[in-house]
Amino acid sequence: MNIGTYITVAAFGLVIGSFLNVVIYRLPLGMIVAAGRSFCPSCKTQLKWYCNIPVLSYMALRGKCGFCHAHISIRYPLVELLTAACGLYLLWQYHLSIPFYVFSALCCALIVIFFIDLDHQIIPDWITLPGIVAGLAVSFVPGGIGILQSAIGLVVGGGSLFLAAVIGEKLFKKEAMGGGDIKMAAMLGAFLGWQKVLLLFMAAAAIGLVVSIIWMALSAKLRKERLIPFGPFLALGAMLAIVYGDRLIQFYVQNFLHGN
Ligand SMILES: [Zn+2]
Repeated sequence: MNIGTYITVAAFGLVIGSFLNVVIYRLPLGMIVAAGRSFCPSCKTQLKWYCNIPVLSYMALRGKCGFCHAHISIRYPLVELLTAACGLYLLWQYHLSIPFYVFSALCCALIVIFFIDLDHQIIPDWITLPGIVAGLAVSFVPGGIGILQSAIGLVVGGGSLFLAAVIGEKLFKKEAMGGGDIKMAAMLGAFLGWQKVLLLFMAAAAIGLVVSIIWMALSAKLRKERLIPFGPFLALGAMLAIVYGDRLIQFYVQNFLHGN
């Protein structure tokens, strides 16, 4: 694989990451993503093209709007870098094969869900519902996991969280798991299959537990005011399953199932 391919994927990743920032910001507010140029959220000034270059503009403007000098969140360049990093990792793992494109698209969806759920405590249906269909559809492509594995993944993923939601509601007398989480887990199951969806649940629960403990220790006020959304942890768990899933499952099978 030549270096040019890596550079191209990195550049594409930054540009797509820049687009994901727009999606994350605009869609929960009911704005049309494609309409109009980007603008400063603070002074609403339309950005010149040279203010729109991923990462570089942020660095050149030192994290401030060129017009009103309002602080621009470090999150914008981070989302761009994260998207590019996902692309580069997947290119290294899969080269320019079908899984590269499939997992790249899934990672973009995960990045969008991560930040929208963090900001608004919703996981949009317009990602998860088409995502479920897409997950089932790509199981047919060469190198795909196959429709049976995908369908079982969907049921195991969505079903587990549905059960967790029912039990949680009985135990705590309040909604513990939203419908958005259930649909997201079904989507991830359809893409990754049942083994990886179980793996990502364990990872998500472990990360969620650690973060919740830190969160509650830091602020008693937050504890009362809002539930910590589960979607971001599912997204992190899914990223881990994409990166380490095959190795972890192989390790488990070798050491625990074929044990000596
Ligand atoms: Zn501004």
